[in-house]
Formats: sequence, C-alpha cells, structure tokens
Amino acid sequence: MRVYLDNNATTIVDPHVKAEMDPFFVEKYGNPNSLHAFAGETHGPLKTAMEKIYAGIHAPKEDSVVITSCATESNNWVLKSVYFEYILTGRKNHIIVSEVEHPSVIATAKFIESQGCRVTYLPINSEGMIDPQSVRDNITNKTALVSVMWVNNETGAIFPVQEIGAICEEHKVLFHTDAVQAIGKIPVDVQSFNVDYLTFSAHKFHGPKGVGGLYMKKGKELMPLLHGGAQMGGLRSGTLNVAGIIGMGKAMEQAVDALDYEMTEIREMRDQFEDQLLEIKDTFVITPRAKRTPNTILISFRGIEGEAMLWDLNQAGIAASTGSACASEDLESNPVMEAIGADADLAHTAIRFSLSRYTTQDEMDYTIDIVRKAVERLRAISSSYAYAPAGHKSGLAAH
Ligand code: PLP
Repeated sequence: MRVYLDNNATTIVDPHVKAEMDPFFVEKYGNPNSLHAFAGETHGPLKTAMEKIYAGIHAPKEDSVVITSCATESNNWVLKSVYFEYILTGRKNHIIVSEVEHPSVIATAKFIESQGCRVTYLPINSEGMIDPQSVRDNITNKTALVSVMWVNNETGAIFPVQEIGAICEEHKVLFHTDAVQAIGKIPVDVQSFNVDYLTFSAHKFHGPKGVGGLYMKKGKELMPLLHGGAQMGGLRSGTLNVAGIIGMGKAMEQAVDALDYEMTEIREMRDQFEDQLLEIKDTFVITPRAKRTPNTILISFRGIEGEAMLWDLNQAGIAASTGSACASEDLESNPVMEAIGADADLAHTAIRFSLSRYTTQDEMDYTIDIVRKAVERLRAISSSYAYAPAGHKSGLAAH
C-alpha cells in the first residue's frame, strides 16, 4: 500500500484541476498579452480563474491579487519591497517576524537584517503558539512591518492573526500573513480582519506547483520585485503562467467547497489516528488539537530518531516528514521543537503526519499498524530510549 501523509509539503493535483489546465499547453498556448486570436482564447478562462481566486479569499474587487511563481516569491516580495520602500529610505528601521516562519520569510528577514534593518524574531510558547501581546510589546514608531504566518507548517498551529492584525492597525504598521497552510483547511476571509498582504500557493491545496499569489489591500500595493513587461498591472512582470493560473483558480474553488469535509471528516480521521498514536508510550504532541488545522499532527516518539522512523515508514510505502520539505535533506532537528526549547534528543524525534481530503480510513488503519511496529523495532535498538526515563529533561508532559 502507498500512503501519502505529507500534504503540508505538497498535495496531489486534483484531476479536475488537471483537466482544466490541459488545453492550455498544446491547443490554447497563446500569450495573453499578444494581439491575436490565440491570445484571445486565454482571456475568458483567465478571468474566470482570477474571479475564483478572489472569491476564495473574499478579496474585494478593488484590492489586488497578484499571481507569483510560488509562496517563496510572495514572501520575498513583501519583505524586500518593505526594505526598499521604508528601510533603505530611512523612513523606518524595524520589522517583526515570528521565529517559526517558513524559511522564505526567515532567510529574507536575515538578508535584510544584513543590510541594516533591525529584525525582532517573536518566540513561541510551549504549545507552539504566538502571544499577540509580544507583537504589541515589540512595535515601535520605527516598525514598518509585522509578518506572522496564519498556520504553522510543522505543527498546524493556527496563529491569532486577527488579534495581531488589530494591533498593527492600531499602530499603523503593515501586516503580512503567510496563509499557505490555511487555504482549504480553515476559512480565509481577508475582509474579516485587518491584513494588508496575504501569501498563498496552489500546490498546497491540490493545485499545480510553480504558481502562487499575493493579496494586497487597496492603497498598500508594493513596489514590484520583478520589472519588465508590465503584466499584472505592472506589479509583477513575466509572461502569465496561463495553465497554472487556471489550475489555481479551479483548485481554490474546490478547496472552498471541500472546507466542511476537511473540518469534519478529515479532522475526525486525524483525531482518531492521533488518539491511537498517543496510546503508544512516551509520545508527545505540543500544540492542542483545538488550536490546530484539521489535518496536521507533529508528534515525538521518545528515543527514536525522526529519520529512522521515516525510513521504516518509507519501507512500508508511507510518506511523512521530519521537518519542512526544504530542510529534510539536512538532517536538522525540527525547527519548531527547537523553538519551544525541547532538548536536542526530543527535537530530533518529531514526525509530521499531514492528511488531505484524499486520505482514507484504510490508509490510516494501515499506517497506525506500521507505526506501532516501527516504534517497537526502533526502541528495541535505541540506546537513548534504554537510558532515558519518561519525561526526562524535556519539560514536556508525556502522554
Ligand atoms: N510558507 C509556508 C508556510 C509553507 O509551508 C511553504 C511550503 O512548504 C512555503 C511558504 C513555500 O511555498 P512554495 O513552495 O510555494 O514556495
């Protein structure tokens, strides 16, 4: 059996999404900016796709949703434009990000820090959550931007973006949220709270890879990161990824339609699987379920290296993860476990299971069986498990 439980890394492209994209490779391949019929036949489908994307995040017509190549580009764009417009010009000198942002935010923040910007990295608490008060405490009259993700990709923790947005509005500070892991898992409505910029990426909600977006509130348009042919109203140049945009539109529409299923059936499947995992001795989950997206579990098995567990799972056809996809090759400990101050042993034992609307009960039943066998096998040969009593050093409660 092959079981895919790494949906926070990427998702299967929904066949309906692929079907909508297919004609735009060989039959209808015109450049939308050209002045002939080949171009013309892309215009209607592109407009429909954009309408679906606007509707998916409840963006009003007057705001901008700009298509990018990925969430990494969107995140880079926000921080670098703020750097050019506010920091380099001397108007402001400070930004705030959480310390568990995706590397596309953290690495960009470190880059602009190296160029002279002051950066505050907000800590998370022992549940992997951000306290909005820490945003208020760190804002100064020189703060240009706060960037805090909506949902953490490792734990699924839902951060209090509504409260953070309100604090930013009160202090007239720009607010950006990386909503990559929120779309299709919780309701996303940019009109329901104060947010200036919002990042998303199609391949996380059953759309194609290589296409994402950045929402910008009217009057808060960023300076372009890519200059050139003036596509996307001059905000983001480059020939449009026609098939990608059409695919993302369909994927967004379906993500919204499937939200109820995700929040009931998938949540139930996840909860039941998590209960079974927690019946295994010396297992730890840091973020309470009620504060998480319905599809994610980050769990530690004391005494078992995450990579060893992944190996056993992979041998049995099961895909999971030990950290964000980009970090998995480095054999580094899980960044969130490190951020909460878990001891090194425990930080190396975290495994992330992330479900999707394609996950089935049969797959979960198969997986729990394999996990139990893997735990037994790996603990039997683990020197650290043999010598570390339950609860030792971690400060975390054992389940
Ligand atoms: N932000 C978050 C929270 C993510 O989980 C990811 C992907 O893992 C990204 C950004 C980057 O997305 P993309 O692959 O579209 O660049």
